[in-house]
Amino acid sequence: MTTRLNLVILGKQGAGKGTQCKRLAERYAIPHVSTGDMLRAAVKADGPLGREVKSILEAGALVSDELVNRLVVERFAQPDAERGALLDGFPRTLVQAQALESLLSDDGVKLCINLDISSEKVTERLSSRRVCQECGAIYNEHDPEAISGTCATCGGDVIQRADDSPDSIRKRLETYERDTAPLLNFYRERGLLVTVDGDRDADTVNAAITAVIGERGLA
Ligand code: ADP
Repeated sequence: MTTRLNLVILGKQGAGKGTQCKRLAERYAIPHVSTGDMLRAAVKADGPLGREVKSILEAGALVSDELVNRLVVERFAQPDAERGALLDGFPRTLVQAQALESLLSDDGVKLCINLDISSEKVTERLSSRRVCQECGAIYNEHDPEAISGTCATCGGDVIQRADDSPDSIRKRLETYERDTAPLLNFYRERGLLVTVDGDRDADTVNAAITAVIGERGLA
């Protein structure tokens, strides 16, 4: 039986989870499973699911545990998740963390990285963040791609996410403190939590995470 490398990346909005997960997914050849990306893709496709969650996402609130759990179960049923996955934005509540435990059963979460960063810093990052609507590449408002509105990687439209408005940012950070911060204890109690300082450049943070994965003999 192959051992699955299931990694959870926790951290505030704007802590750099997406950036790190993209790199780690490539390095360890496991899929990057971002429930936020999945939900935004559904909104863009404008089907029944997208119409159901659009206003929730824009307000910076959480969609129901039941809905997100279902999305993740479906995602894990796909063949590329056989070797594991990098979970970004899931679990986000204790109910979701428990659902993940039963979904993965014995071959559970191997490590939870807590990307630690202050609320002031992430508010600054999120306000100036721009993203490619097609491939998810992340830019800063001063980057030429953000100014021209065209992604250098795929030619897609570079936009500001609807939930990167000041009101939604505040709401999302409150939601993080209330619903997601308790997960730190959940994973700490299981001996799986490692905190990494997220207030450093992406390469340094990446090196810190891969070092932990190596030290724990996970890859
Ligand atoms: P961020 O972490 O910056 O808020 P994400 O891309 O992870 O961004 O998520 C965007 C939005 O998608 C969230 O604000 C929430 O509305 C919804 N969402 C994503 N993941 C979950 C989840 N696990 N449970 C509930 N809602 C979620």
